[in-house]
Amino acid sequence: LVVIGAGAAGLLAAYFSARQGVRTVLLEGSKQAGAKILISGGGRCNVLPGHFDEAAFFTQGSRNVLRRLFKTWPHAQVRAWFENEMGIVLVEQQETGKLFPEANRAKVVRDRLVSACEEAGVELLLNWRVDAIRCNDSASENFHIEGHHDGCPAEFSAARLVLATGGKSVPKTGSDGASYRFAEAFGHSLLPVYPALVPLTTGDDDLKQLSGLAHPVEWRAWQGNKPVDRGSNPMLLTHQGISGPAALDASHWFERDAARLTFAWDACDRQQWAERLQSTKARSAGVWLNEFLPKRLVGALLQRAQIDPATRLSQLPKARRRALLDLLSADEFKLTGSRGFAVAEVSGGGVPLAEVSPTTLESRKQSGLYLCGEMMDVIGRIGGHNFLWAWVTGKLAGTQAAQSLLAERAT
Ligand SMILES: Cc1cc2nc3c(=O)[nH]c(=O)nc-3n(C[C@H](O)[C@H](O)[C@H](O)COP(=O)(O)OP(=O)(O)OC[C@H]3O[C@@H](n4cnc5c(N)ncnc54)[C@H](O)[C@@H]3O)c2cc1C
Repeated sequence: LVVIGAGAAGLLAAYFSARQGVRTVLLEGSKQAGAKILISGGGRCNVLPGHFDEAAFFTQGSRNVLRRLFKTWPHAQVRAWFENEMGIVLVEQQETGKLFPEANRAKVVRDRLVSACEEAGVELLLNWRVDAIRCNDSASENFHIEGHHDGCPAEFSAARLVLATGGKSVPKTGSDGASYRFAEAFGHSLLPVYPALVPLTTGDDDLKQLSGLAHPVEWRAWQGNKPVDRGSNPMLLTHQGISGPAALDASHWFERDAARLTFAWDACDRQQWAERLQSTKARSAGVWLNEFLPKRLVGALLQRAQIDPATRLSQLPKARRRALLDLLSADEFKLTGSRGFAVAEVSGGGVPLAEVSPTTLESRKQSGLYLCGEMMDVIGRIGGHNFLWAWVTGKLAGTQAAQSLLAERAT
């Protein structure tokens, strides 16, 4: 059994295959396994969310299939596996509910997964870049894999193949979109692939003065006048535009559906801001807003609403008052795009869920081929959800591929 790609999904696929006694080879194109695990969570690796929340996942496929897949390895069991089998104690970050390794180092997670694979008997071959995969006529060796090992032409035959080659986000980690090419060669269709969990760029020059400011916001994504998603988490203003958890979570809607995004600078809605404004004893707009928001932000918001901070509230023209309330409760930026795959945390779109078995992840286009991880059309919000998807689907694909091989050899 060959697993291609030693990222989060591939490491688990290989581990669970080898644990069943199947000879398992794990081919990794880069110099090291799990490069993306190493840079995850700011170098700390947010291994899992604190609890399972189905609403934190997005797919254009069936939610029923998504649910069934997650049920194959419930969140509590994944956590127990990391803690008890891998010996990686996970600690919940109070404010965000994210689970990080106690050591606060992603390397601990990556190294332990690699050593677990080695202990289970996985043959991990680094610098083994797969260029093409062909189907063999031989019944026992279904797949012929061609590529380069340490720069020299190399090949492999496999009875079962698990594709765990990721998406195309942060291609310098080795995940450069080869997945999609391989999947298409086997007859799979692809949903348009887009950068998700990605900082967005804006054309609002007046926001540049806020670069570096992080502030909790409530965001909404809209299709026409219909709100399609919302969230509340911190946003970071940058030289290029908006980033931080709020912008990353909202970016998926902008990138996939060109949705309109609005941001409230506080937990208050328009009505509550209007009441605050009505009841304040503050004399000027600047003094009033300083009660609720950081000074830098107040200055920029008043500028955007074309209000002099010293303007007496009693003399604030109706149009300016309306503009200010609009900005406070539903600020909109001139979004021009995103920073793209180079920095996106995940790739949205990819292989439709409908093209794999919901119980085994075997391809419906090619028997003996199993797909898992980021290459599938599933993404999660910030918070460990994307790794949860990779761990669960990696384990399922590796286990099922190995079992089907064992079953075949037993007959
Ligand atoms: C900066 C950053 C921070 C992140 N932080 C978090 C976080 O804290 N928590 C979280 O849940 N998610 C996080 N993510 C998302 C998470 O890293 C991904 O969802 C996850 O790594 C996907 O796992 P995967 O195994 O499917 O793909 P990958 O991890 O991308 O692994 C694919 C592997 O396949 C290899 N490969 C590709 N093509 C070939 C080929 N032709 N031949 C051989 N090998 C090949 C690649 O080199 C790579 O090692 C983060 C992502 C980024 C970019």
